[in-house]
Parts: sequence; C-alpha cells; structure tokens
Amino acid sequence: MNLNDFQDLKAQLSTSSKIAIVSHRNPDGDAYGSSLALYHMLQQFNHEVTVVSPNDCPQFLKWLPGIEHIVVFEQDESNGTAILQQADIVFTLDFNALHRVGEKMQVVLEQINPTYIMIDHHQQPDDYAQFTYVDELICSTCQLLYSFFEKLNWQEYIHQEIATCLYTGILTDTGSFRFPSTTSETHRIVANLLDLGANHSKIYNAIHNVNTYHRMQLLGVALKNMKMLKDSRTAYITLSDRELKRYNYQKGDTEGFVNYALSLENIIFAAIFIEDKKQGIIKISFRSVGDFSVNAFARAHFSGGGHINAAGGRSELNLKQTVEKFLDLVPQYKNELLS
Ligand code: 5GP
Ligand code: MN
Repeated sequence: MNLNDFQDLKAQLSTSSKIAIVSHRNPDGDAYGSSLALYHMLQQFNHEVTVVSPNDCPQFLKWLPGIEHIVVFEQDESNGTAILQQADIVFTLDFNALHRVGEKMQVVLEQINPTYIMIDHHQQPDDYAQFTYVDELICSTCQLLYSFFEKLNWQEYIHQEIATCLYTGILTDTGSFRFPSTTSETHRIVANLLDLGANHSKIYNAIHNVNTYHRMQLLGVALKNMKMLKDSRTAYITLSDRELKRYNYQKGDTEGFVNYALSLENIIFAAIFIEDKKQGIIKISFRSVGDFSVNAFARAHFSGGGHINAAGGRSELNLKQTVEKFLDLVPQYKNELLS
C-alpha cells in the first residue's frame, strides 16, 4: 500500500461508519490481539465497531480487554450475519483468504460488498481487498497493525488496553520473541508498548501459566506418541480423538505441542496430526527451522498454508491414512531437508 492509499484510507475512516473486524477461524493470540486492538482504536473515532469471530477462542485468551464484546458467528449466526451485511468497512485481520473463516461465514463475506481492508502477515494473499496492508516478513499482524497506526498518525491514541492487545499478539506469534521473525524493530515496538502500559509479566502468566492438569497429561500422551524419521530430520506427533476425549480436550490444549517435536536434536521439520471428529478432518500443524518451507508443503499436499516456518493444513483421510500419506511424502523432500 502506498501513501496515497493511506490518505484515502484516512479520509474513509474520518466519517463515522459501521465497521466489522473479522478474524480467522480458531483465533489465536495474534488474531484476537489485533482485532481487539483495532476495535479499541476505532471506538475512539465514533465508529460503530464490532469484532466478528468465526468461532470461539481458547480459554487462555479469555481475559483480553474487550473480549466480551466479540460476536462469535458460530454461536450467533443471525446477529453475526446482520453485522457483516450492514458494515460499510470490513477489516480482515491475520488471514488472507476468505475460506480461512470457515464455510458459513465465507458465504456471507462473499455476498456482501463493503470496503475490505486486509492487514496480514501470511504468504500469498488473495485479491479480495480494496486496501491490502501485507508484509510476510513481519512477525505478527499485531506488529503490522502498530505500523498501520503509525502510518495513520494514530500513535497518541494507543492506550493501555490497545498496548496490551498488541503485546499479546506479538508475544504469541513470536513464541515469546524467539522465532527468527523477531527483529530489533519488534523489540523497539514492544518497548513502546511497555511504556504505554502493557504489563509483560501479567500477560505472559495469563497465557502460559494456566495449564490444566488434563492438558499436561495430554502433553504426556503427545510426547509418547512422538516419532522420529531421523534420515529425513523429521519428527511428528499424533493425537487421536480417543486420546483427546480421555483427557477432556479443550480448545487450545494442543497449542505448542508441535514445538516439542521441532526441539529434538537435528530435527528441522515437525508435524502434529490431530483428529477432529466433529469436523471430520485431521487438523495438521507444520513447523520447520531454516529454509524448508512448510507453507509450500502444506499448500501442495494438505490444503493449507501459512508461513515458511509455521503452517497449517487438513486432511479428509483418517488419522492412520493421513500419517501414511505424510510418510510417503517426506522421503520425496529428503534432498531439501538434508541440504
Ligand atoms: P497453526 O499450526 O498454529 O494452526 O498455524 C500455523 C500458521 O499457519 C498460522 O499462521 C495459521 O494462521 C496458518 N494456518 C493454519 N492452518 C491453515 C490453513 O488451513 N490454511 C492456511 N492458509 N493457513 C493456515
Ligand atoms: Mn499471526
């Protein structure tokens, strides 16, 4: 987006409008952090703003300031649909293809005709937005949103709640500042957010130190199920529906499990396959270290995508067949994985 676009945008946002902010299905810290930061920001300019989320978020995000105002489409379809239909402007945050909101909400988004504004950091954005602010090199949508606010000269409106939301997305999408996408600029922005009142210690604890006993037991199962393909520097984990049920699986419980596979010595490609009986699919997370693109791998074989080092996908085969498919594929990438 060039400067003219920002001027146009600022003009558009100067008159009070009905604005919907949409996050992706299975919202994470970056999706809800950015959506709520933008919500709090726009509220200050007399817009009628609503965040519409396809489905609910994990428990560990339920404390985010403003979360009680989010309309969860899955729980309140008629209200969610009405809000989207009446919106003059729809921001889509932390995703770049409309199918990422799930089938039912996608249909609504494809029927309406608002000004679409995309702010995102995933690779290969679709072309549905009038304003696209995308940079795949930035660690998180929250960092990108901070720059977006700067470009609109809105820094002075970043209050404590906005700082808290932005900090949350940066923290979660950088794996607590350890992924390569974390830059000196990230730290400069985070320093500003602390000055603006974000409490790093409280936020970390609210997200990471709320494990249930069941979740820890499920992690034990995941670690026991972990398999290594040493020759291909690959490791993977499976979790069946039975295992999930046994430990009273709650949304978000498996978040981060795949990183244990990636943390193994010499392993640069990791996957977790999670049976989702309700959707009738296997939900997959891929992670890598270095140049091996899990975005490309997920796109090519598992109807997914994401970033070079973190992507997701799905399979309509059963768990066993999905793993077999994976085991057939990995050797084909051996050269890339060993180079
Ligand atoms: P996760 O494995 O944590 O669900 O997702 C890793 C990254 O890939 C996130 O940035 C997420 O937004 C993206 N992602 C997850 N699942 C999908 C998918 O099915 N399609 C696409 N395009 N991206 C995905
Ligand atoms: Mn993100």
